[in-house]
Amino acid sequence: MGLNIRKRVLIHEEVVHRCKSCNVIFGKDALFCSQCGKPLEKEKTKIYANYGKKGLTSLSYVSPDGTTFNTKGKLTQKIADGVSYTTNMNKS
Ligand SMILES: [Zn+2]
Repeated sequence: MGLNIRKRVLIHEEVVHRCKSCNVIFGKDALFCSQCGKPLEKEKTKIYANYGKKGLTSLSYVSPDGTTFNTKGKLTQKIADGVSYTTNMNKS
C-alpha cells in the first residue's frame, strides 16, 4: 500500500440568492423569487477540486443547503450536523 493522498481544494466561491420557501437558487441579480414573489436570501456556494494520488479525480459543488454534487455522480445530502446521506446517481 502506497501513500493515500487525498486533498480537497476550494477553487471557486460564488454568491447566489435563494428562496427559502421554494428552495430554488437564483443568480445574484435576482431579488425576488419568480415562483412565490418572496425576497431572496444571499448565500455562498462553493466548488471544490478533489485530488487523489493520481491527481485530480473529481469536482464537487456544495449548494447553500449543504448538498454536495460530485462530478463522479455522487450526491450527498446533509440530514443533520455530522450526518449525511450519499446517493450514487450512476446506478439505477
Ligand atoms: Zn419562492
